[in-house]
Amino acid sequence: MNRQPLADPTPMVSLTTDPCVHCGFCLPTCASYRVLGTEMDSPRGRIHALKAIEAGELELDATTASHFDSCLGCFACVSACPSGVRYDELIEATRPKLNALELRSPAQRAFRALLFALLPYPQRLRAALTPLRAYAGTPLQRLARWSGLTRLLGPQLEAMDQLLPPLQPEAFRDGLPLVVPAQGERRARVGLVLGCVQRLFDPDVNAATLEVLTANGVEVVIPPAQGCCGAVTHHQGELEQTRELANALIESFRAVVGPGKAAGPEPLDAVVVAASGCGHTLKHYDRLLESDQGAAFASQVRDVHEFLAELGLSDAFQAGLGPLTHSDGQPASADNPVVVAYHDACHMLHGQGISAEPRQLLRAIPHLQLREATEAGVCCGSAGIYNLVQPQEAAALGEIKAADLRGTGAEVVASANIGCTMQLRRHLGDGPRVAHPLQLLAAAQRS
Ligand code: SF4
Ligand code: SF4
Repeated sequence: MNRQPLADPTPMVSLTTDPCVHCGFCLPTCASYRVLGTEMDSPRGRIHALKAIEAGELELDATTASHFDSCLGCFACVSACPSGVRYDELIEATRPKLNALELRSPAQRAFRALLFALLPYPQRLRAALTPLRAYAGTPLQRLARWSGLTRLLGPQLEAMDQLLPPLQPEAFRDGLPLVVPAQGERRARVGLVLGCVQRLFDPDVNAATLEVLTANGVEVVIPPAQGCCGAVTHHQGELEQTRELANALIESFRAVVGPGKAAGPEPLDAVVVAASGCGHTLKHYDRLLESDQGAAFASQVRDVHEFLAELGLSDAFQAGLGPLTHSDGQPASADNPVVVAYHDACHMLHGQGISAEPRQLLRAIPHLQLREATEAGVCCGSAGIYNLVQPQEAAALGEIKAADLRGTGAEVVASANIGCTMQLRRHLGDGPRVAHPLQLLAAAQRS
């Protein structure tokens, strides 16, 4: 863990804070300002605080740190800023400082340590979730919530329970082959990053991704030893652990791809991922690892929508796409399309600049009508572990996002990030169902 003492002489940030002219254009887009309403919980306020700390006018104590902890790291402010302030770099440089022992209570430290010891390690997470298989998604869980029992656990554990989805049997096994051949003529060869949380809480997303890629002539290599990419810890400034996870992930690919290796000698055209929070971190391996190996790996990473849009859906795949079915089992038609609202994950939209590609892919599905939420660029409150460590603020944002998405009249919400998907499912309840765009494409192919 990266623990830096308060007396650390390194400056909090470089003078890149200077371009901020305090215009406030970023404020309406800021998720934390939206729910907390205080200047210190806005990008402008945090930049001001950073300058004051740098100038020795403000101490980074627990109170000041809490205003940085309230930031979701959604980067909507970066997209909104007309002066080009790189708040993303500022908060990334600041997060490790917030992990100093003095800045968090023992209970906060213990909860975060538990999350960082479990979430990035699929085998440990499986072991921890095994006893919950008879509870998650069952009447027992509904009874526990209804009776108020889960409230007794405290807001953080209650939030965990609220997010816990039914656990599928596929989540508890690693049954994917090392190489899945392309169907028809091979057009590309890629590696697939499964994501640690995604493979456990929504394993069908990776299955659908494989289905769509291979049907489009893409051979897929899935290193069996791959673990977490480090996104969970990266977004919280736990740099040492993130680097360990990143190096292990790169090694899992090197172990199987190359001359004499099990997946064959041919290099990969790309490393593809279907969870945008992971994609954002994977694309930062150059800066995180500061090594040629990290830079080479990062340059290969593509979000799956970005990759498919670049490659182009094959003619055969497009010709085979049929309409989706409504919740009553009726197929969509020109007169009665399935209405879908695409939810922009922050690490996709603001973090990777990807917004057109997923929409373009969804439009390939016959009789699918896309609708836009009015505040598509505002965070849903998921933000990695934010909805566990800041449950009240995250819940308020989840309700705002759910109301916005319900207002579109959509029957389906398309979400390409597992964290957002879990947060949206919690807050949409019996409202529109939530599915990954690749799941919708796979379903259209099957229909
Ligand atoms: S970060 Fe950008 S948008 Fe926000 S106050 Fe500063 S200059 Fe204005
Ligand atoms: S990253 Fe998101 S929550 Fe943090 S200051 Fe920027 S807009 Fe606000």
